[in-house]
Amino acid sequence: MHPLAQLDQRYVWHPFTQMRDWLRQEPIVIVDGRGAVLRDVKSKEYLDANSSIWTNLHGHQHPRINAAIRRQLGRIAHSSALGLANEPASLLAKQLVRVANPRGIGETKLEKVFFSDDGSTALEVALKLAYEFTKRTRGRKREPRFLSLAGAYHGDTVGAVSLGHSDLFHKAYSGLLFKTDKIPAPYCYRCPFNRAKPQRADARMYRNCRHECVSLAARAFRAQARRGNSYAAFVFEPLMQGAAGMIAQPEDWLRDVSAIARDHGTLLIADEVMTGFGRTGFGAPLSSSTRSPQPSNQTPAQVSLFASHHEDVQPDFLCVAKGLTGGYLPMAATLTTRGVFDAFLGEYEEFKTFFHGHSFTANQLGAAASLASLGLLNGAASLGARQILQATLRNELENLWQIPQVGDIRQAGLVAGIELVRDWRTREPFALKERAGIRVCEAMARRGVLTRPVGNVLVLMPPYCTTPRQVRKITTAIHDACAEVFR
Ligand code: PMP
Repeated sequence: MHPLAQLDQRYVWHPFTQMRDWLRQEPIVIVDGRGAVLRDVKSKEYLDANSSIWTNLHGHQHPRINAAIRRQLGRIAHSSALGLANEPASLLAKQLVRVANPRGIGETKLEKVFFSDDGSTALEVALKLAYEFTKRTRGRKREPRFLSLAGAYHGDTVGAVSLGHSDLFHKAYSGLLFKTDKIPAPYCYRCPFNRAKPQRADARMYRNCRHECVSLAARAFRAQARRGNSYAAFVFEPLMQGAAGMIAQPEDWLRDVSAIARDHGTLLIADEVMTGFGRTGFGAPLSSSTRSPQPSNQTPAQVSLFASHHEDVQPDFLCVAKGLTGGYLPMAATLTTRGVFDAFLGEYEEFKTFFHGHSFTANQLGAAASLASLGLLNGAASLGARQILQATLRNELENLWQIPQVGDIRQAGLVAGIELVRDWRTREPFALKERAGIRVCEAMARRGVLTRPVGNVLVLMPPYCTTPRQVRKITTAIHDACAEVFR
């Protein structure tokens, strides 16, 4: 075993990892990366098919981001945001406000930016702000209550875990959490109201239902209103729920449920930690055989960098992290409205201050990387590459229907989930202990493609610089890995 792998096994405790399994085999030790390629200590190359856990946007070692970080490092790496402002964070806040308010997206305007460190803290900030805002402005006698989606994952801090409904991850800590309510996620493939027989297509395309998921949401809002305590906030991942199993929402679902929430005076908290910064693409049709990479007839909202806007929803809180810095450094932000901000204004002794913050809030290196990343996203080169990647993915994913163990393929722009099942005709799932998703990903790794499954759902989320040839290598690896594992 390589000495670095030995060191890891002796000292490092890995996140979300059964360490007994980890210690059974030599880990891959990454030493460098360029573009969509990672290289390990033995000089084996891998495609980074999940963008290093959904963070990387433009590829590794992007010269513009590297240069921006180096430039900033030549001045200062970090000074505190407690009592001090700094140049890149101020510039970044302005840019974030600009991209978060595309034309034609409705009346809510996101005007203030609260920086933090990662996705969990971005959600934690939104939760605390919504909680206090509701208490202060709405004069509700009862405690503010939150609604989110079944299976939701919004991070690992205790508040973010409370907003989630992922039994697998959260059950162990149930005694630590506060109670939140849930409504069903619009999981067409496994929806009890979908009467359609399984087909070789994205279940959203052939579902046969009466949109009961929307009616159930309406019912939940009404029931809570009857208790005299309408939900303070509705928390959601727009278009695609990631860690819940890459559950892609049918068109108009978010638009409809958000409108119901608004009717009840409920705030909207959009968790765009995974979906933000162009990941959900250009709002192209769900499953189109067109080979043209050009998005057509699209409104500014549909080409926005944020998934909520693709459904014409402007939240009261927009939480971003992962891709904010292009996936280079830990940094996050929670954007909100002037109304929320104003509720925290007062005399010093009134203690209306938002008592929250972290040592590295508004870190200069992270802000410099983020500015460079945003600059790239707005450029024609990135736009063109993303259009081609979205179309290539769509075409390549079509070929995966030939694999008998593929039950559903859900694409939202530049991210896709491929649900593996024992029998596609009945949707019978693999048992957890068969570790089907893990075994397929291990077989893909042997073929030079790295990704991590969510249960039995394979995740494809390549960096935007991934070429059509590299995408084909990824889908070929899926074919070959499934053939090996399910032989
Ligand atoms: N929200 C979503 C939608 C996420 O996917 C994640 C992380 N997978 C988080 C929040 C938490 O982010 P972090 O791991 O950076 O704390």
